[in-house]
Formats: sequence, structure tokens, C-alpha cells
Amino acid sequence: MPCYAQIIIQFATVNEIDRPFTYEVAPEISSRIQVGQRVKVPFGRYNHLQLGYVVKLMNEVQETGYRLKKVAVLIDEKPILDNKQLELISFIVDYYATSYAAAIDVVLPPGLKEQPIAVEEMSEKKVRLVEDRIKLKAYCNANAHKQIFAKQKWLIDYLREHTDINQKELLALPEVSASSLKTLEKNGCIYIEEEKVVYRPDPICEMRFKTLNDQQEQAVQYLKALNEANVYRTILLEGVTGSGKTEVFLHAIREVLMHGGTALVLVPEIALTDQTLFRFKERFGNRVALSHSRMSAKERQRLYMRAKNNEVSIIIGPRSAVFMPLDNLKLIVVDEAHESSYKSETTPKYHAIDIAKKRMMQNKGQVLLATATPSIESYAAARSGEYSLLTLNKRIGEAVLPEVDIVDMRLEIQKGNNSVLSHTLFEAIKDALEADGQVMLLLNRRGYSTFINCRSCGHVIKCDHCDVSMTYHASQQILQCHYCGKTSDVPEVCPECGSKYIRFMGSGTEKVEAYLKECFGNYGVARMDMDTTTGKEGHQKILSAFRKKEVRLLIGTQMIAKGHDFPAVTLVGVLSADLSLFMQDFRSNERTYQLLTQAMGRAGRGKEKGRVVIQTYNPNHLVMEVIRNNAQEAFYEQELANREMLGYPPYTHIFSILVSGLDEGEVIRTIQLLSQYYRYYSQKGQSHFRVIGPTSAVISKIGDEYRWRLLIVGEEREKLLIYGKFCLEKFYNKEKVSGTKIQWDVDPLAM
Ligand code: ADP
Ligand code: ZN
Ligand code: ZN
Repeated sequence: MPCYAQIIIQFATVNEIDRPFTYEVAPEISSRIQVGQRVKVPFGRYNHLQLGYVVKLMNEVQETGYRLKKVAVLIDEKPILDNKQLELISFIVDYYATSYAAAIDVVLPPGLKEQPIAVEEMSEKKVRLVEDRIKLKAYCNANAHKQIFAKQKWLIDYLREHTDINQKELLALPEVSASSLKTLEKNGCIYIEEEKVVYRPDPICEMRFKTLNDQQEQAVQYLKALNEANVYRTILLEGVTGSGKTEVFLHAIREVLMHGGTALVLVPEIALTDQTLFRFKERFGNRVALSHSRMSAKERQRLYMRAKNNEVSIIIGPRSAVFMPLDNLKLIVVDEAHESSYKSETTPKYHAIDIAKKRMMQNKGQVLLATATPSIESYAAARSGEYSLLTLNKRIGEAVLPEVDIVDMRLEIQKGNNSVLSHTLFEAIKDALEADGQVMLLLNRRGYSTFINCRSCGHVIKCDHCDVSMTYHASQQILQCHYCGKTSDVPEVCPECGSKYIRFMGSGTEKVEAYLKECFGNYGVARMDMDTTTGKEGHQKILSAFRKKEVRLLIGTQMIAKGHDFPAVTLVGVLSADLSLFMQDFRSNERTYQLLTQAMGRAGRGKEKGRVVIQTYNPNHLVMEVIRNNAQEAFYEQELANREMLGYPPYTHIFSILVSGLDEGEVIRTIQLLSQYYRYYSQKGQSHFRVIGPTSAVISKIGDEYRWRLLIVGEEREKLLIYGKFCLEKFYNKEKVSGTKIQWDVDPLAM
């Protein structure tokens, strides 16, 4: 029996004490204590009882010189964390340089505190016919002549065939009314009984599976072979929108289920998954469960337990679903895998793909990354052979890729057209609407109004040192580079061509909407962005009006570019493609490319050939060239070369430090002090680290808190982590900070 235990104390996320502590195990619990259980232990000078997790049991410990405290109280009889979860927690702690407490927090469902996980049994009301068939017959005979009996008769016949139905399902049938149910119960023909819900998996509905085309078939066979061979692998499934990727993973999941495995499907935004969910439900029935952010803590805990108890085989959900403890998990699908919403912005700042990979390594399963526009990182991994690559390069059926027009907006100015719509786009909208088609107009609001652009020549003011656009700070009337911190004055004329038509980019969505309503109002115009959609219902309302063609012209931000399948959309217009090109971020090319490609994926998904019109002030920019020539491969190669030259990911890793607080002076003081530590120690070791900044963060103030950032760049992730943490430790040991919060992020997506 174990005499000692190592315990992680949940109480504090304070770094210095976030490590396992050794306790002696009280004899009265030593036969029951197990790794993964929660316990209560005395902690600190006053021996307050704190919540802890047992991570290791030992028979002896080295002499420490002081008396060990005792674990005396077990919270759980059975471990709440299994070995794989404990291993995953250690992985998160190391990989993201975060605390155990924070890692445990994301692995377990929310709202646990010290109670056991909600396992209250679900019950349902079952409706059944009485056993006494003679009595039943007598009732039928006696009432057969009554007109209202028809409904009851129908119900009786139905219950003869359906012996295991619950009241709710029954009442949902159009033929069944609450009153006939009541009458039958009153007369002793049926009885309604509260019963424990027993999970009986629905059979897989084979006929719903489509016959695959050759490329799809190859992909599925490849995945099937990996699954049968029980080997870990990450696979990039690259295919244009509408090429049948979803169909591929539906088939792959069926294979996994048939071999006794389970699967997770991650989606970027649960509000946009109705169609996908439907396709899962019709094939896998009650084996599918949805996890979403609007679930209560209780509901989340219940789903967690259903996963643990093998009462569900497929869970669909956003990034947090990656932790669902499905038994024998063999496949994790990441749909739209390039989306940045897979990276958590709160501590621990994990990326769902990293977690998925770790879990599949543990389980000898596969990670499938499905996307039309892989991230540069995934592309590089596929090229180097770290990932397998599966490609679907044509659309299903008659749908063909749309025709693309790139409109040079500089010429519009010269022609005296000052409106937000070019002549070409205006005519295209008119044609599409007159031909009974639907139109999506994409307003790219990212980086809204923060950079300076010449309307005559398209020139954008950039930092001399960083090749990123300078950001306009209205309060001080200056431009600042958010990479190196360098500032400059706002120019009065274009430094390139001398024109005085130099101005801030961005045109409010409301203004555009008003203008479009004026021109095309009678076709039905709607706008969808953060302001017009509150919650899921807001989305649904607008999308359903669009689906029903009550709205023929939909204007929106990136939100509308994602995942929707509207076969009647024949035209997609991008009003201002440049807005994300010159963000102060080395990923701006990638983001713009992804956004434009996704937008193009919305056009011509039905029988009509689609058309795409992209407006830009930079028609010769790499991204525009690539879109015009449909040169996906060239884009990735060029972008990789740029990243290599500038020393950005995937060739390096970034350790990003964010200091925030209400007092900007204090924030700056803290981060400057921190940067001194990093600069000082970067010169001491043999490894080379670049220290960039400090500068104010891209979002420089949130909720009255100022935000400043420091970036540490290094080639080897492990060394970077050691160095990143080492300097923080030195800093914490020496310096006193108050009123500021320090957070860090490894491989950040936001700057
Ligand atoms: P993606 O996920 O790449 O956008 P989908 O899997 O959603 O593509 O496929 C696009 C459309 O084509 C869907 O309506 C789907 O039902 C249909 N589809 C996919 N594969 C096939 C197939 N092999 N045969 C017939 N229809 C298919
Ligand atoms: Zn100019
Ligand atoms: Zn710079």
C-alpha cells in the first residue's frame, strides 16, 4: 500500500507553488487512494484544506528534513482523471509553459469545484399498452362508433408496433394529441412509466452514404488502412469547397465506428454547423452528440460522462471539445483546419490541433485536417512529409470553379468613380439579380481604418524595418510599427507618387448597406455582421431569409465567407480585398489569401457557373496574382520563402509576452523591465534568440486595460521555452510588479 502521494494543488495558479507536493498518506485511506483522484489536503502556513489531484503514489521518499503533511480526505471514490488525461495535462504544462491548475481546468468539464461530476441519471416517460389485451379489445369495441376514437385507435395501433417509445417522441407525431393520450391512460389502456434512459446506439444508416468518386475513395481507403494498422498519423485533406471533404470524413468515421472506435469532429464555430450536424444525424442517429459553448456546466458534465461511459461515439464541437474523453478515440477531424478560432486566447493558450495530435499519438489514431486553404504551417508539414497529404481537386457534380475578375480600383478613381462599387461590380450585381441569382458581398473589416493607403497609386505606408504596415494612432496622430515600435509622422502626400489622395482605409458597413439598399433595395438587401447578429438566432434569421430568397443580396464581414452552401449564389463580390493585406502581422498575406479563396468557394455551388469580383488597390500584389491565376501552390512556396527570409514561423517559434493593466505607464514600465531581462540573457547563452519590441499590441486596449507585447523568436521550440520561462523566473524573483498582469503565449496567432 502506498505511503506517499504527490499532489497538485488547484488552489493557486501562482507560478511558484504550481508543482506537485509530496504528502504522507493517512493509513485509513491508503487502501483506497488512487492516481487521478481528487483529495483535500492541508496547505500553507495555516493548513487550510485545499483541493488537490493525486498524480503519483510512492512507497518511499527521500528524507526531506521536515515533516510531511498528511492526505486524509478523498473526494472521489474512483479517479476523475485517467492516466492518459494526466499525461495530457503534463504535456500542456510543458508545451505551453503553463500551470497544472490551468491545464487541469481545460481537461475537466467546467464548474466542478468539489462536487462529483454530474451523473444524475436521465429518465424518460415510456408509453406502453397494457398487457391485458382482452381489456384493451373491450375498450376498443365499446368506443369504435365514436368519432373521436379514430385518433385513439391510431395511437393504439402505433403502440402495438412501437413498444419502446417515450412520451415526448410520441407527442411530436402530428397524429398524436395530449388529450387522446390522457383518455387512453384514464381508461387503463396504456400506462406511462418513468424509466431510466438506456443508451441503445442507433444502427448506422447505410443508404445515406453516397457512392464516392475516385479521389474520395482513395482518401477513405488510405484512412481506413491507417485505422486498421493502428498507427498515429496526421493527414492534411486539401480540397476546394464543394469537393466532397465532408463526405470523406463521414465515410472514414463509419469505418472507425465499425472497428469499435469513436471520433471527434471539431468545427470552428458551432453556430454555423446546422448543415453538417444534419448530415451526421441522418447517418449516425443518436451516436452523435453536439458540444457547444451555450451548454450549461451541468450539460457539459453530463456529456463528459456519456463520453466516458461509451454512450456516444461521435462528438461534434468547437475547440474545447478536443478534450472530450471518448473511449477508444481513433480519429479527430478538424474541419476548416486553418481557422484561428482553434487557438485558445485564454490561458492555457492551446491550439486544438496540437492537442488532437497528442491525443492521437496516445491512442494510435489519426488527425484529419480538412480545409480548402491550409495554414502555411500545415502546408509545410505536408511538404516535409511530417503529415500525409490527400487532395480533392474538383468539385462534385456539375459545379465548376467560378470565373474571377480582379478590379483595379485605382482606375476607378481616375475615371471619376468615387463610389465603393466599381463599374464592373455594379454591373455584375445587376446582372446576377436580374437573372434570378443571389449575391454575397464581402466587406473585409479586418484591420479596419488602421493603415494609410494612397488612393491614386495604392501605396501603403510600411515600416522600413519590418515589412508590415504602420498603424495609425489617432490619439497621438502618429504611425507606429507594431513589430519594432518605431514611429513616424502621418504624411500629407503620398511618399510614392505625391498625390494628396492619401487616406485611411475602411468604409463603414452601414454606409455600404445604405448605398446598396438605394440601388437594389427591391431585391431584398440584408447585412450580417457582429452588430446585426446577436447570438445564434440572429444568424439563423438572416441566413434563413437568404436561403428562402427573401433576401437576394447579403452584405457581411468574413462571417458570410465561411462554410455556407447556398446553391443559388452566382456572384460573390469582395469590396475591399486590401483591408487585411496590410495588417501589422506577418500572417496578413496568408489570411487574405484564405479569406478570398473561401469567399470564392461560395460562388457557383449549384448548376449555374459562379462569378467572383474582387476590388483592390493592389492588383499586382502576390495574393491577387495568385488568385487571378489560381496558383495555390505558387502562393505557398512564395510565402514560405518570405517567412524563411524574415525568420518567421514555421521556420521559427515565437514566445509572446503580453503585459496588461489599467495604468499604461505601469504596463510600459513592467514590459520594459522584462525586455531588459530577455535582452540580457539572450547574450549569455549559446543559442540565438531575437527579442522584438516592446510595442503596444495590435489591439492596444481592451476594456480599459492597456496591452503591450514583447516577442521572443527562436528556432528551436524547446530551447525557446526554457529561455522564455527562465527569464520570467529571474524577473519574478527580483522585481515587484503590481497592477499589471503578465501572460505568455507560445506559437501565438494574434499579435
Ligand atoms: P466539402 O466538405 O469539400 O465542401 P461536401 O462533402 O460538403 O464538400 O460535398 C459538397 C456537396 O456534394 C454536398 O452536397 C455533398 O452531399 C455532395 N457530395 C459529396 N460527395 C459526393 C458523391 N461522392 N456523390 C454525390 N454527391 C456528393
Ligand atoms: Zn501614391
Ligand atoms: Zn518595424
